[in-house]
Amino acid sequence: MKVLSRRHVLASAAAAAVLPAGAAYGDARRRPLAIERVTLASAQADKPALPDALIVVRDGKIEYAGPRAGRSTPSDAKRIDGQGKWAIPALIDMHVHAPQLGLASGRNVAADPRTAAQDALLPYLANGIQAVFNLSGTVDTMALGAMTAAGFVDGPAIINAALIDGSPPVRPGTRVAATAEAARAWVSDIAYEGYRFVKVYSRLELNVLAAIIDEARKQNLRVVGHIPNSARGQIEKALVPGFDMVAHAEEFAKQSPELSDADISRFAALSRASGTKLIATLTCFEWIARQTRSVASLDSLDAMKYLPAAVRNEWRAGNPYARNSTPERIERFDRFVDFHRRLVKAFRVAGVPVLAGTDSMIPGLVPGFSLHDELESLVAAGISSNEALAAATVEASAALGLADTGVLEAGKRANILLLDADPNADIRNSRRINGFVREGAWIARADLDKRLAGLAKRNA
Ligand SMILES: [Zn+2]
Repeated sequence: MKVLSRRHVLASAAAAAVLPAGAAYGDARRRPLAIERVTLASAQADKPALPDALIVVRDGKIEYAGPRAGRSTPSDAKRIDGQGKWAIPALIDMHVHAPQLGLASGRNVAADPRTAAQDALLPYLANGIQAVFNLSGTVDTMALGAMTAAGFVDGPAIINAALIDGSPPVRPGTRVAATAEAARAWVSDIAYEGYRFVKVYSRLELNVLAAIIDEARKQNLRVVGHIPNSARGQIEKALVPGFDMVAHAEEFAKQSPELSDADISRFAALSRASGTKLIATLTCFEWIARQTRSVASLDSLDAMKYLPAAVRNEWRAGNPYARNSTPERIERFDRFVDFHRRLVKAFRVAGVPVLAGTDSMIPGLVPGFSLHDELESLVAAGISSNEALAAATVEASAALGLADTGVLEAGKRANILLLDADPNADIRNSRRINGFVREGAWIARADLDKRLAGLAKRNA
């Protein structure tokens, strides 16, 4: 078990070796930034939008965000005209699978590590995403996270969760715990390796899950993941305090043979009592259902051009959903989609936090772009635009323990999206990004578009 720890040390060394002396955001940070006459769009139910506002950013932090009246713009600031525009906190995707680029081992990196990392993360950046919750954390994605944290690569902060499964594991090569003792040892290792989250998976026995949750609390880690198959018919034994987040609405569908509203009410009450949040991943299963119908559904995805050719081929030629399609399966998956929407709405009404996550890099889920699909899906499920934005900003940052971001308030880190239209009037307007203040540095739309065009060309 100590092998992973040793590899982690190597990864840190590998990441350090490619890091330059100065961070990429450094220069832009020195000059303050002022967004004038902007509307602060609300991403919190109890906070109405504020028109004619001023945002001042200095040294990577929000110095002021509030009414413009009576405030003057600092004379040395770069001024951005926010008239007719809306500001929201930059977004957080609560369920992704970050690329495994071979950064830690040095293997599989065709280009130089910086280009490989930048190309993989650009779609997140171009979609206004400041942080991603990576639910397949490895020594390699820890190295990638170190590169973005240092500003060596422009991309989202990467928060990694390390997976533990039961025996035999769903995927070979994962940490396996068949006993409570083995589980506690893994959790210890995971804490030592620098993770803040443990991901629990489908094959765990209930007593082993309980040991993971208990040990995680002792090690100050949070627990996220699947509801193990062993909980079928006794879900209350899995939904216990300390199981912090369920990774998909689908996990509940698997626990409801009839896909019934009665089960939804019970699951909502149990989740509320245990303090377990829900990462919805609605768009993920909607894409699975579409591809089960036909792989040609992917043709509508213009953003696929930003993925490497190998990934595009894999999604089409090796598509697991199209390959296993039957009329019964199509029908069942449509019923799942409907169940997930009812579940999300009911959880929200019951006061269970619902978080916006995509499962990006599952076929159909293009990094970055898919988070805007998820926001649309959340609204289609019957929650308000305002709540959908909260699910990808303030509630997401709270769930990740990122106290210094996710809201537009003085003292928070400056991660801000400037939109060309009001996202509360129509959630699709979250895509209309005019510019992105990333850790205090202004990135204009034209710059993002230029970089995306370059990426599409390299991946052609
Ligand atoms: Zn996933």
